[in-house]
Amino acid sequence: MKMKFKGEEEYCTEYMRYLGVAKTARRSYAESVRLLKAKGFKDISTFKTLKAGDKVYRGCLDRTIMAAVVGRKPIAEAGLKVVGGHTDAPRLDLKPKPLYEKDAYVYFDCHMYGGIKKYQWLVRPLALYGTIVKKDGTKVVVEVGDKPEDPVFMISDILPHLGKDQAKKTRDEFFPAEDLDVVAWTTPAKAKKGDDGEGDKPKADKKGFVEFLKKTYGVTEEDLLSAELEVVPAGMPRECGFDRALIAGYGHDDRVCSFAGLQALLDASSEVPDVTASILMCDKEEIGSVGATGMQSSFFENTVAELIERQERNPRDIMVRRALERSSMLSADVTAAQDPHFSDVDSTGNGAKFHMGPAASKYTGGASKSGSSDCEPEFIARIRKIMDDGGVVWQMAELGKAEKGGGGTIAQYMSRFGMAVLDFGTPLWNMHAPCELASKFDCWQTYKAYSAYLRS
Ligand code: MN
Ligand code: MN
Repeated sequence: MKMKFKGEEEYCTEYMRYLGVAKTARRSYAESVRLLKAKGFKDISTFKTLKAGDKVYRGCLDRTIMAAVVGRKPIAEAGLKVVGGHTDAPRLDLKPKPLYEKDAYVYFDCHMYGGIKKYQWLVRPLALYGTIVKKDGTKVVVEVGDKPEDPVFMISDILPHLGKDQAKKTRDEFFPAEDLDVVAWTTPAKAKKGDDGEGDKPKADKKGFVEFLKKTYGVTEEDLLSAELEVVPAGMPRECGFDRALIAGYGHDDRVCSFAGLQALLDASSEVPDVTASILMCDKEEIGSVGATGMQSSFFENTVAELIERQERNPRDIMVRRALERSSMLSADVTAAQDPHFSDVDSTGNGAKFHMGPAASKYTGGASKSGSSDCEPEFIARIRKIMDDGGVVWQMAELGKAEKGGGGTIAQYMSRFGMAVLDFGTPLWNMHAPCELASKFDCWQTYKAYSAYLRS
């Protein structure tokens, strides 16, 4: 099996680079398209017909992408193999009317995206990424906080000396979501003595900040109505521990799996597979896979239809349905690694551990398996064989003890097509925190696992 990366260190170095540049779904999309094009993949619209070995991708709104290497067997007969992950991550989004003044300062009003623990976002350097779309359709890209010369942003917290009242409140109460606002501009307006009876008391200078935005980005305050501006942790991924065995970084969930899938497909594209090999890197998983770019949309089905349209002389709707039903997928999403400091949520003997490879989960969901796809043992057996034959180190796990919580992935939205879907991804500590931890060994084995699957 030809693989681009020879070992764990080489792979993890490239993964850490990707993790640093791809902090939002849009940036991940752009980087993925760049890597796909470099390997000869082309947009599906450039193909009239598709033949075995063709490398193709289809995007959705610059955030979600599906890429495939066309196999020898027609998709209508053999379906596809899919490694499906997501590239959105929990964060804070600027509200549509983000600017407000409080005392002498200007803030960005923010809204939570995905499941976060609010306190983890206080007093840490933050970056701002996104796109502002002007009325004429032109897009202005904003990227501030990760270059050494860039400023960063921050949400302030009270000092311990004056935090007595705060200390009595619960984790969810002590910092209201409405206060998760980023300081944007603190220089006060130049006071004109006596102009409003308040003397030279400093005043917030929203006007000055709006002028700055105009000068720097060519946008008005009104243009922010049609913007997607995301607040994410500033800084690059780092090795963690003296043995450097872990990677600390923002957004392992789920770029650790998405990137592994992407690399596995790029490698697989040097041969012509029997069954079409494909990957999905989708958006909106963290808010329930909603929207046009989420996996509850028709994007996947439509893309399969587009592929079949270019493969069959007489394409029919039933071919798409059959192809979907005959497909299989590894739902490439992260799971929790057992953390000895929180052992009361561990499922005895069924939890994932670091350095033991990616974890397969028969089901996710809550205590009664609600919201999961509950994979059939026939497919698990197939995957067991593929992994063992491929020399992949992997583990079987569930997400924590019953009645302690739960979680979901895109598995449930894909299995409704009748296809076999198994959750299979990298275990993490600190999932959904601004800085998550993954094991280098597990990252490497995840890549090996998806490679083995796509080429099986
Ligand atoms: Mn995830
Ligand atoms: Mn998640």
